[in-house]
Amino acid sequence: MSSSAPGRVREVTSFANPLIKDIKGLALKKNRDEARVFLAEGLKLVIEALDQGWTVKTLVLAKTALGNPLAEKTAARVIAAGGDVLEVPEKLMAAITRRDNPQLVAAVISQRLSSLSSFRPSGNDVYVALDRVRDPGNLGTIIRTADAVGAKGVILVGDTTDPFSMETVRATMGSVFAMPLARAGEADLIGWMKAFPGLSAGTHLKGAVDYRKPDYAGKPVLLVMGNEQQGLTEALAGACKALVRIPQAGKADSLNLAVATAVMLYEIRRSALGLEDRP
Ligand code: SAM
Repeated sequence: MSSSAPGRVREVTSFANPLIKDIKGLALKKNRDEARVFLAEGLKLVIEALDQGWTVKTLVLAKTALGNPLAEKTAARVIAAGGDVLEVPEKLMAAITRRDNPQLVAAVISQRLSSLSSFRPSGNDVYVALDRVRDPGNLGTIIRTADAVGAKGVILVGDTTDPFSMETVRATMGSVFAMPLARAGEADLIGWMKAFPGLSAGTHLKGAVDYRKPDYAGKPVLLVMGNEQQGLTEALAGACKALVRIPQAGKADSLNLAVATAVMLYEIRRSALGLEDRP
């Protein structure tokens, strides 16, 4: 619970209102980074953010949401925690979220990243490192899957796409608020990997080991996934204790990155999720 003074409720109807212009500007990474905030749409995501203790600076509420008990309760939570509420007509909400059928609410939320040094693997913790992942849909899907299997964190290496873009946040379906994320340069990650107390498994189309071979149970595992076009850099591949390959038949030259990550994560978590025993 925040101890700040309650926020304010304002009605805004003009596209030219500077508050609306600033919120629309969050579609650009430059503006998100400058203000260290991002936009999330939909009641489910905003409630998830509040439940996980993220700071909602502004809640944009479509007029059509007035009278909706959950939307109004959410607005009251935001105000009590010191955030502001903007009541807007539906056409303004559509412009902010760039959708014809906009959600009832959108929220400006403070960004939050962990430092790599705060990731301290132990037990059977699983971390995922993503080497220069470019596609926001892939990144969001991977964050969601990492959350689903109970991973402890996702490391965004080098030029990996922004986890706080609207497209990535949408694809996470709320897991962006649950999954700790850290950014790291390649050299920093390799340094961290040298001290990694368990198995670092890189995925590679030319990997020497079938992905089902290593024993992933009962130790920390770092799963390292490569760029959509180029795969892993040589340096990162060389820093992994094992390079594993998911077998393929057919003509496809590789699996989609998010699909390959899901296959790997469910194998790595096989024992932790009780997948050995048929339910
Ligand atoms: N052209 C790239 C290459 O030669 O590495 C393919 C990249 S693939 C689309 C993107 C990433 O997905 C790879 O770097 C790897 O992490 C993972 N991946 C996809 N299919 C895989 C497979 N069959 N075995 C292991 N990893 C795979």
